[in-house]
Amino acid sequence: MEAPSSRILCDIDLDQNGKQAGYLRVPNSVNESAYGTILIPIWSIRNGKEPTILLTGGVHGDEYEGPVALRKIARSLDPSEVVGGVIIIPGLNVPAIRAGTRTSPIDGLNMNRIFPGDRDGSVTMMIAHFVDAILLSRIDYQIDLHSGGKTLEFLPMVSFKESRDKDRETRTLKAAMAFDAPYVLLNRDLDETGLLESSCEARGILHFGSELGGAGRVTPEYVKIAERGVMNVLRYLGIRDSAAIPSETIPKLVEVEDLNCYVMAEENGIFEPFLDLGSTVQEGEVIGQVHIVDNIGTGPVPLNSARRGIVICRRPLGDVRRGDNVMIIGRYVSL
Ligand SMILES: [Zn+2]
Repeated sequence: MEAPSSRILCDIDLDQNGKQAGYLRVPNSVNESAYGTILIPIWSIRNGKEPTILLTGGVHGDEYEGPVALRKIARSLDPSEVVGGVIIIPGLNVPAIRAGTRTSPIDGLNMNRIFPGDRDGSVTMMIAHFVDAILLSRIDYQIDLHSGGKTLEFLPMVSFKESRDKDRETRTLKAAMAFDAPYVLLNRDLDETGLLESSCEARGILHFGSELGGAGRVTPEYVKIAERGVMNVLRYLGIRDSAAIPSETIPKLVEVEDLNCYVMAEENGIFEPFLDLGSTVQEGEVIGQVHIVDNIGTGPVPLNSARRGIVICRRPLGDVRRGDNVMIIGRYVSL
């Protein structure tokens, strides 16, 4: 199928019933490869016209739980189990995944800051444009799996953004709860510019994401949460007819209210955290300190939390630079 308003070719027919696997073919004619192409795997599992959900992972190339879980789901899901359509792109930012980096090594862009992309732009712009112009126009639901990448580690959570449309926000919360991750994060602080989530909101598509771990690792526990969660949501939305896969816990709702929830390093050095993920924090509490390794006259510089709550995210690396985010403090919200 050739998408007329994109320079990217999709070699499967997304409207056709049955199971298909193919590629998005992104033109990338460069010194190393004249008429070269970047191949992005895509699966379509369809049984009927609607509803359709788009599942994506690997928007950031150093976040691995999503691509692993979605590749497993794509290979195992059968059209006979589905009502409507499931489009799966486990690794959207293939150049960044191959490089093991958050942003694309080709154009340096952060894919989740440049939506709706540009048909005639650089590789990352073209991919974002394809998602926005070609895929979002044909779907009802979207889940975009992220984690903390190499420089952050989150508690296992699904996340969604505050919406201007409160009815949409309530529907999103219910779908996010159905994922059944240990935590659900409501973000009230996000700069909306260029997010895939903002493109979905503009089109009225129900959307949420995840922050499943990170630290550049893949853990069996978090892959299982991702696989089970996606299957639970497919069932919740009526796309998959099966029993929910039970868990032992009820998801806890947390929110990040503003930028004061982020603790930033104020010096270059070695970050020594005092708290683990999930620890409770008091307002003003010292959450860690930075050791300045090349100065005998300066003791460790303490870092304080401006908020009370729990540690939902932490920098897993010892090495920090001034301005790096080292911790995010969320607070529990009752439903
Ligand atoms: Zn991400």
